[in-house]
Amino acid sequence: MAKCPECDSDLELEGYDLDVGETINCPECSVELKVTNNDPVTVTLPAE
Ligand SMILES: [Zn+2]
Repeated sequence: MAKCPECDSDLELEGYDLDVGETINCPECSVELKVTNNDPVTVTLPAE
């Protein structure tokens, strides 16, 4: 399961049809996360 790199909480992304390059917001800390892989889903903090 993907984890938020900011707050380390589990991201429940199962069943979401995410595309690489898409951005989502962490439900816990609201940080913006960029999808870097979708099988399995991995996210990273966008470069600042
Ligand atoms: Zn977070």
